[in-house]
Amino acid sequence: AELGLQKDRVVTQEEWLRKWETGNIGFHKEQGHPLLQKYLDVLLNGRSGLRIFFPLCGKAVEMKWLADMGHNVVGVEVSEQALKEFFAEHSLPYHEVPVPEISGAKKFQSTSGNISLYCCSIYDLSSSIVGKFDGVWDRGALVAVNPRDRQRYVSLMITLMEKNSSYLLVTVCYDPNKHKGPPFYVPESEIKSLFG
Ligand code: SAH
Repeated sequence: AELGLQKDRVVTQEEWLRKWETGNIGFHKEQGHPLLQKYLDVLLNGRSGLRIFFPLCGKAVEMKWLADMGHNVVGVEVSEQALKEFFAEHSLPYHEVPVPEISGAKKFQSTSGNISLYCCSIYDLSSSIVGKFDGVWDRGALVAVNPRDRQRYVSLMITLMEKNSSYLLVTVCYDPNKHKGPPFYVPESEIKSLFG
């Protein structure tokens, strides 16, 4: 029953912005995600100097980890507050770069140049704007996408991936009738059909 109800549920961008404003960000992991450490080898696959994409990035500390390892990190997030908090909390100097291709978008780039965070909706991006990636860290992204936008999200992600890129997707197995989310339940069968 809950799955049926979720299909039409929408979390609007305004609601996400309000979560950031009110500090209602229980999803943020200050210590970073243990599964990235566990599966780092799968993501990197022996390669160095990768371009790694963080969809719906929030202020994920894993962006700092990977940048410190010598990779180039690109993220996208609707909340400007989240992105500013990211740079502030890691004492990273950054500057704002215009994004002429997307109206209303901004890009926050670390002065060192290896972290570029777009402030706009992920649906505004395309490979002609951000290029393609060798790896993706999807934690709290697919499961935060509104169910009606899932196919669009996955199709976009596929266009942003290089041939040999790896995609780490964090999912949570639970009974959708007992738990409200994080924030949407995506069954494994659907993940298989979405990514094909
Ligand atoms: N991946 C992060 C944040 C997960 S929460 C982490 O691991 O902590 C989902 C985030 O997506 C929120 O910060 C929300 O503001 C952002 N968001 C929601 N819809 C978005 C969209 N269409 N484009 C870009 N960011 C979006």
